[in-house]
Amino acid sequence: MNLIFLGPPGAGKGTQASMLSVALKIPQISTGDILRSAVRAGTTMGVRAKSFMDSGSLVPDEVVVGIVAERLQDDDCTKGFILDGFPRTVAQADALSEVLAGLGKQIEHVISITVDDEELLSRISGRRMCAKCGKGYHLQFDPPKVPGVCDNCGSNLYQRDDDKVETMRKRLDEYYLKTAPLIDYYSAKNMLRTISGIGAIEEIQQNILKGIEGS
Ligand code: ADP
Ligand code: ADP
Ligand code: ZN
Repeated sequence: MNLIFLGPPGAGKGTQASMLSVALKIPQISTGDILRSAVRAGTTMGVRAKSFMDSGSLVPDEVVVGIVAERLQDDDCTKGFILDGFPRTVAQADALSEVLAGLGKQIEHVISITVDDEELLSRISGRRMCAKCGKGYHLQFDPPKVPGVCDNCGSNLYQRDDDKVETMRKRLDEYYLKTAPLIDYYSAKNMLRTISGIGAIEEIQQNILKGIEGS
């Protein structure tokens, strides 16, 4: 199954996509994770992307489209994939459908996760990430068993630079301006499955499973 997770920063895309990836045995492709790895590795792409990410702006379309076009050709994508955080602009969505057409594939469902701004801000400010495996946590809502340590791999947790208060608002503005139009874009194509992102993580996962099975 080929899926897209759409939603504002902090909606729970990464949390839900990683659980669904295990349940459906298909890879989660997070452009945010790929870009953060490139920044850490100091690649040319990472150096270029860093200033955009630090300021809370979107990275230019051609950079992320290139990443995804390449990643979708990997063998592990043959049975399906979950795009987490891509596309984020109408231009990216158009480019994606061209890339997929070239591969003889198409998206089956776009899962749109909705959460109000106040909740998004408290989720982003309490988010912590594993420096090694990338698993996400929340200080109050989804804490690790041992404070500051990843349940999965035992590495230290850190706060993303762009999760600081100063950049959060800018990221939400970018979302409403550039990404939210994709809700109408995919709705017009009858691909949108809207899921409330408020509630227990497990319960939201069940609703997503129902949404993709029942249609
Ligand atoms: P969040 O999970 O909070 O929405 P991500 O980890 O998906 O954040 O993205 C972090 C940053 O990486 C974004 O603010 C943006 O700068 C960049 N980024 C990730 N995906 C894309 C994309 N599809 N298009 C442009 N920029 C992106
Ligand atoms: P996104 O990838 O959309 O930016 P994340 O999956 O990283 O969002 O979730 C943002 C933050 O909110 C994380 O700290 C995560 O632990 C927490 N979170 C995720 N889902 C829920 C939920 N249903 N209720 C409360 N907190 C949540
Ligand atoms: Zn870890």
